[in-house]
Amino acid sequence: MMNRAQLKASLSRNTQAQREVRRYQRHVFEHVLLNSPNIRKPNFAQISVADLGHVFHATDEFFFGGKIGSFFEHTYASPLSFRLSKRMTISGGMTTMVREYGARPSETRFEIAVATTPLFETFNVDSQSTVGGLACRSRLEALQRIVEHEMVHLVELMLTGDSNCQAGPFRRFVKRNFGHVESNHELLTPRDVASRSLGIRCGDFVCFYRDGRRYQGLVNRITKRATVLVKDSSGVAYSDGVCYRKFYVPLNQLKKASAA
Ligand SMILES: [Zn+2]
Repeated sequence: MMNRAQLKASLSRNTQAQREVRRYQRHVFEHVLLNSPNIRKPNFAQISVADLGHVFHATDEFFFGGKIGSFFEHTYASPLSFRLSKRMTISGGMTTMVREYGARPSETRFEIAVATTPLFETFNVDSQSTVGGLACRSRLEALQRIVEHEMVHLVELMLTGDSNCQAGPFRRFVKRNFGHVESNHELLTPRDVASRSLGIRCGDFVCFYRDGRRYQGLVNRITKRATVLVKDSSGVAYSDGVCYRKFYVPLNQLKKASAA
């Protein structure tokens, strides 16, 4: 079994020619389509935590001979957990490490979360996007790039206890192994979708119905829903000196209004 130093040395030798990178990525793509419980087409309509695990392990298998997963299993007591998040709307994924105070290193827990909202929204509207600086022509390709990025976070966290995808070591590793040239994505966030499909942006004047009543207000924030501030003397005073009541409105229930 590999220890930390051996894993580090082995990964630092792991360099793929860019043509090989694309070939392995294609293998993972095909493997997932054949074996994953829900991902049966590149623009899949459903995904479960098991599918996410599948993409992760297939990537590890094709790129690293399964070393990352087997090091993990032998080093940590809890299995690596996967999560799908509907609420994460800006970043594509997130890897977290939790070690309780006084716990042994082997009791450290790790989780990889992938944001499903940008993944689904983007390919409802567009046929192509970019993750890690690489063109993705389907949900599955975008998911693979996100998992590859998070896998590098996991490796850095396991090896050093810290990880930063803006820093040199991360960028070199992710470039060398997966061909990523950026640490970001251009998947659509709910804000992009709102501004494109509904023409609504923060600061816009909108109207909506609530309990049969029509309200007008200003869009203050857009996540899965929009936060709309409606002038109301019984509301809370804001920095502009006006009192507003706050409403959370699903984006599809908003209409642009002209300022009164
Ligand atoms: Zn990152």
